[in-house]
Amino acid sequence: MFGVGVFLASGRHRAASRCASQAWARWRLVASSGGPSGWDAVSSNPSSASAVGIAGAPTRVFATNARTSESTAARRDAIASAGVLGAFPPQRPTDGAVELDTALRARESRALPRELLTDTHGRHHSYLRISLTEKCNLRCLYCMPEDGIDLTANDQLMTTDEVVRVAKLFVAAGVNKIRLTGGEPTVRRDLEDIVRRLAALEGLNTIAVTTNGLTLHRRLGALRDAGLTHVNISLDTLVPAKFELLTRRAGHDRVMRSIRAAVDLGYDPVKVNVVLMRGVNDDEILDFVALTRDAPVNVRFIEYMPFDGNKWETNKVVSYAEARATIERAHPSLRRATLPGEDARSEVGKNFKIDAHEGAVSFVTSMTHNFCGGCNRLRVMADGNLKVCLFGEAETSLRDAMRAGSDDAALMDTVSAAVKRKAAAHAGMHDLKHMKNRSMIKIGG
Ligand code: SAM
Ligand code: SF4
Repeated sequence: MFGVGVFLASGRHRAASRCASQAWARWRLVASSGGPSGWDAVSSNPSSASAVGIAGAPTRVFATNARTSESTAARRDAIASAGVLGAFPPQRPTDGAVELDTALRARESRALPRELLTDTHGRHHSYLRISLTEKCNLRCLYCMPEDGIDLTANDQLMTTDEVVRVAKLFVAAGVNKIRLTGGEPTVRRDLEDIVRRLAALEGLNTIAVTTNGLTLHRRLGALRDAGLTHVNISLDTLVPAKFELLTRRAGHDRVMRSIRAAVDLGYDPVKVNVVLMRGVNDDEILDFVALTRDAPVNVRFIEYMPFDGNKWETNKVVSYAEARATIERAHPSLRRATLPGEDARSEVGKNFKIDAHEGAVSFVTSMTHNFCGGCNRLRVMADGNLKVCLFGEAETSLRDAMRAGSDDAALMDTVSAAVKRKAAAHAGMHDLKHMKNRSMIKIGG
């Protein structure tokens, strides 16, 4: 249950659980405490707008009441003029994301026909997302159901060897990009090892991770050395107190540290995923855009999607059109752009640049403009189930096939049969709400 701001404004939601009421009460306390003294509780320097909490810098206050909103514009200007991420000199070796050192690759590969991963609608699937765990060190309200999830027993999860075997087969059949996700992939102690083993696969150009960033700053150097080429860090608010309500945990400063560490280590772009939710963080759109001014940060505004247990409502979705209009009013130079390394045919983000901004802004329009036509993605979840569509119910157990003794050819037959059954497009926004699907934390985004 969402326990934040207008998410509880509807009658339905007000009849909410104790947990949600408590969150609402805390939220009101924070939001209505009225100006600087109230913000003292949540901000180390309420009057400062010179930074948004990176590496111990003073945090910014947030404006949800009349008094503070009067000064929102002034604060935004201050954030912009301070150059939010620009206080440090990023040492970036190259344009484009961190390159895999070819010496890391053992060149072990055996080509399989591309047709195996081509569906009946002509879409070849070259992008595999692997969920490494169902566990997470945050409890995001929009991702984790209110009652938590039943974790799959450990012996039913894919082992590291099974993960690598699946990856190897998919790469042999034409996958050139793998994203490691979860749950929270950094809760796996063997993440560096997995990355290193993936980096040895001939033909795999991109090894990415999507993470909440809580502990990434400590491990990113080792992950980069292991061969991690791209980093997406999820962060839905620049306000530490709001972060705690949204994720039910502390750690905003650590996420900001991870974003900075990724920039410092030369990741370009560092993608920052922001799920926009009305009444929760739609007042921070321009603050997130400010992150792109002086650093190679690609802020990606994601339309909020329905999954089991997340109490999604149509009116909570902040559409691409709305978010874009908000940015255009403040930044008339906002214009469509092809970003380095993005394939226009299959990109899920609509990408934009703003004059004089080093980074970029994107919109992931899963709800208002489906991108099924160019979909090149497949997902393997932590329990070894292959999911050919994020919003499809169909799943095929690769773990069972492997444990039943399938050889590589039989395993790829199983994969290919599932790919051939992939529908041309998923249901529309309103039907998705009623569909049975796993919670996001189990699918892995
Ligand atoms: N724990 C990692 C993280 O948060 O980045 C990886 C897993 S998380 C499920 C992957 C992505 O899905 C995150 O960027 C998260 O914001 C996004 N996500 C989760 N629930 C969502 C929802 N209901 N609508 C849109 N995006 C969602
Ligand atoms: Fe965890 Fe990521 Fe889901 Fe948040 S979005 S609960 S960090 S898996």
